[in-house]
Amino acid sequence: MKTFANFLKKHKFKLLAAAVLIAIIVIIPFIFKPESKSQNYNSYFMDLNYNDQTHILSGSEGVEYFNNSENAFSSLYFHLYPNAFRQGSKSPVVSSNNFNDAFPNGESYGSINILKVCDENGLSLEFSIGGSDENILQVDLPEELYPDESVKIGIEFETILPNANHRFGYGENTINLGNFYPIACVYEDGKGFFTQAYHSNGDPFYSDVAFYTVDFSCSSNFTVAASGEAKSQQTNGQTTTYSYQGDKIRDFCIVLSEKFDTASSQAGDTTINYYGYQGDSDLQAMADFASQCVNTYNEMFGAYPYSTLNVVKSNFVHGGMEYPGIVLISDTVSEEDYQYVIAHEIAHQWWYGVVGTNEYDHAWIDEGLAEYSTYLFFENNEEFGLNYSSMISNALTNYKFFVQIYQQINGDVDTSMDRSLDQFGTEPEYVQCVYTKGVLLFDSLRESVGERKFLKALKDLYKDFAYQNISPAELIASFSSSTGRNLENFIKGWIEGKVVIA
Ligand SMILES: [Zn+2]
Repeated sequence: MKTFANFLKKHKFKLLAAAVLIAIIVIIPFIFKPESKSQNYNSYFMDLNYNDQTHILSGSEGVEYFNNSENAFSSLYFHLYPNAFRQGSKSPVVSSNNFNDAFPNGESYGSINILKVCDENGLSLEFSIGGSDENILQVDLPEELYPDESVKIGIEFETILPNANHRFGYGENTINLGNFYPIACVYEDGKGFFTQAYHSNGDPFYSDVAFYTVDFSCSSNFTVAASGEAKSQQTNGQTTTYSYQGDKIRDFCIVLSEKFDTASSQAGDTTINYYGYQGDSDLQAMADFASQCVNTYNEMFGAYPYSTLNVVKSNFVHGGMEYPGIVLISDTVSEEDYQYVIAHEIAHQWWYGVVGTNEYDHAWIDEGLAEYSTYLFFENNEEFGLNYSSMISNALTNYKFFVQIYQQINGDVDTSMDRSLDQFGTEPEYVQCVYTKGVLLFDSLRESVGERKFLKALKDLYKDFAYQNISPAELIASFSSSTGRNLENFIKGWIEGKVVIA
């Protein structure tokens, strides 16, 4: 087997990130992570090549991983989300009623192959594919990684995309590269590494903020939108390589299309790029709408910290999907709902992107806050004709209808919110308990503590927990401290399903 150093040479890296990758891994480790950056964040250096004929993405990834825990590690763990799309996976990637929309040309499979793992000197490291559904890459370290120490490893991989209208897959209009690379599992003291497999409900992800330096190459026919700031691009024959830098972002997503047309707008220090399809007449209007969302949330919660936000129309089975610096808006969303979905997905830049959560175990935090923020956007931007009281009243009606129907069918209904994705029996149950009840919870909280204190609590949460992951207990403590009220029983009553909503 060839060494990682040879592999790197074979690919003739010419651009900055690649040079940095070689330097760090082989020659001068001290430049791997500039001193000016926090020492506690991981770094990813990726060189990616997408072949649109085979739908295979070849990647090499350098990771500097920091042990921020109190324990020594003998192994590191990485999620392999593409394997959820492989033939024979244990859990479907969409619910059965969404299957035909996700796979319009019939079932199609994707996966990720780990070709090699090595240390910073290019020496092979032992690794295995495990987890409950071939969803985890375990890398055995040559020596224990102690607290506050870091280790550098290289991973060579090949990701195969399915023909799917999903966050990961290629469709008729766009190629969506979400969750396509090995990403480090979050470690929690007392709980260990989070290694849960994919689930069709919600966004089954959980990650730490990190630094990303990414080179992505594809056919020059494509227009590319990605997380991070676009630094440069270089065309060589039929291939263009795009270089990105993402500082303190918790994931990296890329969407490409031959059909994109774009418009831009400015919100504070952020450039908003809207990627619609050629022939769309609303490109500038959507860019301007997105910038209005950013302006509203900047003022309400605190400034969006990144220089770029891309809002991208795409083939996607659900309404939309958030990634740091880029949101996907499904091209199947009706004209009537399109701006609503943009407002929701952009709110996730604050709740999920900057203030992170375990989206698998506590989806109500980021989805509840993003959905409620959407309500706040329309309350504060009346020209779009959505009335806050009517929206709350509709949410209440929907929620009560759900409870009534489930009681009739099952004799009982579980309305607890703080459940892991696999504990929701159906997709409607997940949506009602997480989104709708999330909105009702935050509306009720605002009623209880008053608008001024409630908005202060959101600002404090954003400021105090930026670039971290928050637990339900931390959210409760933060809201209690900001409002000067002990809100533990109040919020727990809601999330544990004890509050009767009449
Ligand atoms: Zn959402």
